[in-house]
Amino acid sequence: MGCPSKFSKLGNELADEVVGQTPDDVVEMGGEWLATGHHEALRLFKELGFEFFHRPFNTLSGVNNATTPPCRGACSVRVRSEDGWHSVSSPDAAVKLFPQEERQALQKAQDEMSKEVKNTPCHAPFSNPNASLWDSLSYDAFLKMALGLQHYPMAYNTLYDKADDAEALNQISALFVLWQLNCSGGVEGSGEEDYWRVRGGSQAPAIRMAAQLGGDLQLGAHVTAIHRRANSLYEVHSSKGVVVAKHVIVAGLTPSLISAIDFQPPLDGAMDQLLERMPVGTTMKYSMVYEKPWWRERGYLGKMIFLNTSAPSNYVHNCFDNSPYSWSRGVLTCFTEGAQNRAFLRLTDSEQKAVMQNILAEALGPTEEKMIEVLSKNWADDEYARGGYNIFFPPGVLSSFWPAAQRIYEQRLVG
Ligand SMILES: Cc1cc2nc3c(=O)[nH]c(=O)nc-3n(C[C@H](O)[C@H](O)[C@H](O)COP(=O)(O)OP(=O)(O)OC[C@H]3O[C@@H](n4cnc5c(N)ncnc54)[C@H](O)[C@@H]3O)c2cc1C
Repeated sequence: MGCPSKFSKLGNELADEVVGQTPDDVVEMGGEWLATGHHEALRLFKELGFEFFHRPFNTLSGVNNATTPPCRGACSVRVRSEDGWHSVSSPDAAVKLFPQEERQALQKAQDEMSKEVKNTPCHAPFSNPNASLWDSLSYDAFLKMALGLQHYPMAYNTLYDKADDAEALNQISALFVLWQLNCSGGVEGSGEEDYWRVRGGSQAPAIRMAAQLGGDLQLGAHVTAIHRRANSLYEVHSSKGVVVAKHVIVAGLTPSLISAIDFQPPLDGAMDQLLERMPVGTTMKYSMVYEKPWWRERGYLGKMIFLNTSAPSNYVHNCFDNSPYSWSRGVLTCFTEGAQNRAFLRLTDSEQKAVMQNILAEALGPTEEKMIEVLSKNWADDEYARGGYNIFFPPGVLSSFWPAAQRIYEQRLVG
């Protein structure tokens, strides 16, 4: 079955199976980073024998595994502002490129937004006095109209990241974004979010656990129906047959995949309708593999931020150095999300590659280095995921369906 942490291995020297070993030449196609606050996952992976490394220099326990620290540890981030490409020392420093008026507008918007996030507690979002208004607005309208960023595209694009939902901002409820930020305790959209990578790849712990479970685990069984019988036992029907169980846990499925399961007794009306109104975003990681991270020799980190709205970079949300732990290859990965993703997918493979090469040439300068491989996966096309990174609530849904949403978020129940 598919899994958002699917990875691709680089280099032929690796064995086909990674069970029991930690390959260092892995590029994740999906979920990749653990936040510093992912305590349970960090604990579990450590228990399973995995180490973590920190991008961008692939440092493990504070030790740099590259022979010489690239750019003496001070590589620059490239920012595409409205007037072209610039180098800055860190993503946060991009604001220095803004005209003074836009910088002030951003500061004011950030202050206002922090206040609203605080007013939208995770356990009671409707205690925000503006809850009903914010839920009737998209996050796009909120940024432009309520926070006054309509004529400040770079300030607008700076706050885009606060809704980490891989979807066009005009589809997402503003209240949902504020609520989500409150629930994440400030981690979402901060430097602590995309922090640790798992040495061996983020899917390796799941593969190791699967090996430990042995014959008790059935893979590739597409569940189509879950029926409760008169004796209170459940029959779980899958492409591999029927299993009878005392308890059933449905975990990890996106709402459209849950709705496709035939539940007996059926889900109640409010839950079924809520699931129909909880879409997931659409995202693709487009990774370009080179023999080595040549951009580092030029003093670049490989991170690119797009604050402008002009072509060709309007296909891309951001790019970053995604080289594997071993540094055996140089990998640049770009995220293309939501409406950008759908526009990008209308291009042929060679047009997509040309767009990406143009972006790299503009940002990092022309190169003779050969792109040896492209690794990409569009998550909406995966029949067992149908998108990523997460669900979001369109305007109005949170207010109308809060009791059913509470059952999901507070009790982890759909049935
Ligand atoms: C491109 C991308 C990048 C991401 N980056 C990050 C990141 O850096 N950090 C982070 O924390 N999160 C990230 N995420 C989100 C993260 O991957 C998900 O939140 C996480 O994988 C969810 O785990 P899960 O176990 O709940 O669901 P999943 O990993 O989706 O597992 C669900 C499983 O159910 C299976 N399944 C589906 N339907 C059926 C069925 N009918 N019968 C049986 N099995 C079924 C699927 O095949 C899948 O294996 C990213 C997601 C994407 C798409």
